[in-house]
Amino acid sequence: MQRFLAILFLAAAAALVDRAGAETPAARDLLADGTVEYLPGDLPVIVAAPHGGRLEPAEIPDRENGTTVRDVNTDLLAHDLAEAFQRQCGARPHLVVCLLSRTKVDCNRDALTATAGQPAALATWRAFHEAIARARDVSGRGLFIDLHGHSHPEGRVELGYLLGEDQLREVGAAFEALAPVSSLAALLATSPDSFEQIVRGPKSLGGLLEEAGYPSVPSPGIPHPGGAAYFRGGYNTARYRAAREGDGWISLQIECPRPGVRDTPQNRRRFAETLAAAVETFLSHHADIRLEPPAPVGESPAAGLRAAR
Ligand SMILES: [Zn+2]
Repeated sequence: MQRFLAILFLAAAAALVDRAGAETPAARDLLADGTVEYLPGDLPVIVAAPHGGRLEPAEIPDRENGTTVRDVNTDLLAHDLAEAFQRQCGARPHLVVCLLSRTKVDCNRDALTATAGQPAALATWRAFHEAIARARDVSGRGLFIDLHGHSHPEGRVELGYLLGEDQLREVGAAFEALAPVSSLAALLATSPDSFEQIVRGPKSLGGLLEEAGYPSVPSPGIPHPGGAAYFRGGYNTARYRAAREGDGWISLQIECPRPGVRDTPQNRRRFAETLAAAVETFLSHHADIRLEPPAPVGESPAAGLRAAR
């Protein structure tokens, strides 16, 4: 009996070691001359931040066309979000952050628009998208989040599913017919809800954020932008949605207002905790995906003994 208890104790100790191991920061890959940061994760969730980069090396010429405004602090918010998942789920999402300024590259555009053909900018763009492809290949389904910041005066969290204002004004059967063109199309195979409920019902991401005190569009309270400026989701959201039959990935662009969401460390952390919890509920309800730590290596007491030595 004593021996049995000792084995149990050692197995429990090994589990603690495994759990503690999972809580250490993920290995950090710096790609393309340190212009892209990739932290591999365990969860079927990818958090990408294309517009928060701060590096402005003089040897890469500035882009002359397109938007060059930085989405301030979205690089930090992406890290806060990864850490919030770690605290809540005991595992990390994949994190891909462009560290190069948007004045040099735009990782949410096609390659030519993004780089104007500049080789160093193109290397950054490629590394950013290759990291996402690597993360996406780890599992057959999951959620891709493209994290951004906006300065629209309404100050709402804008959730872009590739549906514009006119489409979001539809209701009933006309709204259901939009599902195949949205970035949430793959959820039709798994969700118990209608497409309209997936997009703006109480268990939609907008509904969960709204309930937690962050006005969001679309949501039960704000079903469409109502004529206000709104980001419907761009290049990355379209690129990383389900690409073919049997691909279970969904995607969205999350546009964060600055005040109260990404302005201070406390506000970023609070929003990140809320968003991670909303994503966990959303994926559980609509996709039957549980965000949990990976199974520990070696479940047997013998493995526990080895690990504890
Ligand atoms: Zn942006």
